[in-house]
Amino acid sequence: MTSSSSNLLQIVQDHGAPLYVYEASVMKRQYERMTAAFKEVKRLRINYACKALTNLHVLRLFKEWGSGLDTVSIQEVELGLMAGFAPEDIIYTPNCVSFAEIEMAISKGVRINVDNISILEQFGAAYPEKPVCIRINPHIMAGGNSKISVGHIDSKFGISIHQIPHVLKVVDALNLKVEGLHMHTGSDILDAEVFLQAVEILLRTAQDFPHLDYVDLGSGFKVAYKAGGVSTDIEDLGERLGQRFNEFCAEYGRDLALIFEPGKFLVSEAGHFLAEVNVVKTTPATVFAGLDSGQNHLIRPMFYDAYHHIENLSNPGGKPRIYTVVGYICETDTFGINRQLSEVREGDVLAFKNAGAYCMMMASNYNSRFRPAEVLIENGEARLIRRRETLEDLLRTQLETETVVA
Ligand SMILES: *Cc1c(COP(=O)(O)O)cnc(C)c1O
Repeated sequence: MTSSSSNLLQIVQDHGAPLYVYEASVMKRQYERMTAAFKEVKRLRINYACKALTNLHVLRLFKEWGSGLDTVSIQEVELGLMAGFAPEDIIYTPNCVSFAEIEMAISKGVRINVDNISILEQFGAAYPEKPVCIRINPHIMAGGNSKISVGHIDSKFGISIHQIPHVLKVVDALNLKVEGLHMHTGSDILDAEVFLQAVEILLRTAQDFPHLDYVDLGSGFKVAYKAGGVSTDIEDLGERLGQRFNEFCAEYGRDLALIFEPGKFLVSEAGHFLAEVNVVKTTPATVFAGLDSGQNHLIRPMFYDAYHHIENLSNPGGKPRIYTVVGYICETDTFGINRQLSEVREGDVLAFKNAGAYCMMMASNYNSRFRPAEVLIENGEARLIRRRETLEDLLRTQLETETVVA
């Protein structure tokens, strides 16, 4: 069950706008869909990709449900440990970070996923006993948008499949213990066939590594952002891939763990972003609904041309009219062009759907605005899990502000 409009309006009344609201039940539903889809796999692990939504309260939920964690920075590693994840349930998959940062992660005891041969050599020389995972780039295009396709030939992610002979020499020379092979082909798998092709490439490569404990297939699972939009048929994928993986384990001679790292799939639909309409502005060409928010709070529409469905919660029965929904930032921060909304009045609350993944996490303080607060709905109860910022928060890292603030 997703939260009703009146519920959301009440939450805005209690906590103010702009506001992110997350539903634990929707995250749990998605987590359980995923585990059910791959139920044929003996050793399934789901590692929530926490960069999508990193609030500790959300991390603790996933911990409670039995998830592991996918992290991409030492800070995410530390937050994961703070949320109670065991180090061995955290995989650290950095890209272009310093070796010093990788050493910090090693000191925390988490699993290390290496995506660069020069790092693999340094790792092997410094930590000959520590098992390691290797991130492979199978060069499969996932979707057509180059901003979110990470498997193609020009991508900075992973070690090219064509460099495996070189990797094997390094592994052999340093006697590395390769415990896992990993791929993550991007955030936009439009086609299960493409994903399965990439899996075949990874499994073929896995035969060159006789001591594996797991194969990590990353993510890229889609959820629909609009009615009729593409979403990954996880049940279908689970059936086909589960069977294929079990066959592979039989060929390989051992039950490997199968790991996925969904971010968007688990949390996108659980989120609502709620903002108030400051002004309705009619120009010769259009009617703008101007919000008490902007690209500083939700940048996906401007950054990726992402579509987020918008509803007017305050006037559900209003006459449908056409609006261009924009923010208050001194940039062209357009949330949606020519959207049909029930008649918008100043003071109305608009809701953005699919605002759980990569929304709050990409928020900034541009124009010296405060970032939104966050609320978690769990067991029917709405709880503030991040307070709204204040001017003090903006100043906290600036030095000698006393002399500046008169
Ligand atoms: C971002 C990321 C994910 C999650 O991607 P989604 O599209 O949100 O599911 C998984 N693995 C790695 C390594 C990532 O960087």
